[in-house]
Amino acid sequence: MVPRRAFTGVTKRVRGEVSVPVITSNRINMPDVAEAVLADGDADLVSMARPMLADAELVKKAAEGRTEEINTCIACNQACLDHAFAGKTTSCLVNPRACHETVLNWGPTEQPKKIAVVGAGPAGLAYATVAAERGHAVTLYDAANEIGGQFNLAKQVPGKEEFHETIRYYRAMMTKHQVTMRLGEKVDAQALADAGFDHVVVATGISPRAPDIPGIDHEKVVGYIDAIRGNKPIGQKVAVIGAGGIGFDVTELITHQGKSSALDIELFAQEWGVDFDNHPRGGVTGVEPVVIKSDREVWLMQRKDTPVGRGLGKTTGWTKRILLSRRGVNMVNAVEYVRIDDVGLHVLIGGQPKTFEVDTVIICAGQVPERGLYDDLMTKGVSADLIGGAFEAVELDAKTAINQATHLAAAV
Ligand SMILES: Cc1cc2nc3c(=O)[nH]c(=O)nc-3n(C[C@H](O)[C@H](O)[C@H](O)COP(=O)(O)OP(=O)(O)OC[C@H]3O[C@@H](n4cnc5c(N)ncnc54)[C@H](O)[C@@H]3O)c2cc1C
Ligand code: SF4
Repeated sequence: MVPRRAFTGVTKRVRGEVSVPVITSNRINMPDVAEAVLADGDADLVSMARPMLADAELVKKAAEGRTEEINTCIACNQACLDHAFAGKTTSCLVNPRACHETVLNWGPTEQPKKIAVVGAGPAGLAYATVAAERGHAVTLYDAANEIGGQFNLAKQVPGKEEFHETIRYYRAMMTKHQVTMRLGEKVDAQALADAGFDHVVVATGISPRAPDIPGIDHEKVVGYIDAIRGNKPIGQKVAVIGAGGIGFDVTELITHQGKSSALDIELFAQEWGVDFDNHPRGGVTGVEPVVIKSDREVWLMQRKDTPVGRGLGKTTGWTKRILLSRRGVNMVNAVEYVRIDDVGLHVLIGGQPKTFEVDTVIICAGQVPERGLYDDLMTKGVSADLIGGAFEAVELDAKTAINQATHLAAAV
């Protein structure tokens, strides 16, 4: 949620006071951002760390005018800092080869195959990119009219705007490696068998899980996809069932008002109490951060009795927890869901009945793999692999999806 080049004002100030070159860093993830920092006189040199994990050829591509082909760091921290702080080998969500260059390699295939990839989410896109680059003839299907899968939902969450860069990168890769695009086509096993592919890769993603709560079909119940897309109205008083990554994202979205602070350095500074004008020791103003929020009252709840939000990313989870608690979101754990009706959501907390008189109940209660197509292909004896959310539905795990897809495509 840090805006691009948010901290270059720090080096700008120092630059006028010292006689040596100063180097700036943090959230400078594309060449045009770096150029603007230098043109504005904010630093003499730009240091990039995470963007080099995302794409080791960033500078080369920039120099050759191939900016569209840059795999951009989306500032998720999921495979770099979260790994480093957990004692795991660092890598990158959008580039699983990072720090694995000796073990994850590929070159041109000696036996080009005709491959169908079904699903143009991160898993299908990663597979199609590597397989097509290796010389396989790849056809990519998606029922939707656009590529990106669930990343099209993620990019709508304030603070996750960078996810659109991953979709842009893959779009460029589809063109560069001449993948045949079949968008707006929900394909079935018979059609794939008839088309005579040598191999089918099923990357069909997930379906949201509908929890078994009496009243789940009530008109005040809204699924997270409809909530994010704005397909259904959301009331003033809202219960969000499920406090995983998607529950947090949906709560962020519905309690948010105005511009995203991830796109505005001033707003970001106000929201986090950073003092970019006076640069006090530690960088913070010491005054209360400005909280801009919608006037909704929201309860974010989970069945587990652990603190709400404990399972979020190590280096990013704290920001999400602080942000929502500053917005007055009520976090409730150890909830047993009883029923939903005209009055609201009835629950048991510690065995005691309680009713939340809400207008809307948003369901973020996990996902189930979408495997119907794979099962049908198996029945027909078609050679197929299952990848991404369709293989294992773990709420926020594009890291595993892209990693698995890349390994399989490198070996096919
Ligand atoms: C709000 C939100 C925020 C998220 N934030 C993060 C995050 O911060 N970090 C993270 O790692 N992950 C995040 N995720 C999860 C991430 O988006 C998923 O892990 C990832 O998209 C899974 O990729 P996939 O390719 O397996 O499936 P999907 O992205 O679900 O793509 C599957 C695609 O298959 C298509 N399809 C299905 N059946 C057919 C068929 N029969 N024919 C043709 N097409 C078909 C669908 O239309 C869809 O486009 C978020 C998700 C959401 C909803
Ligand atoms: S894991 Fe995420 S934050 Fe880390 S380098 Fe890759 S894209 Fe950037």
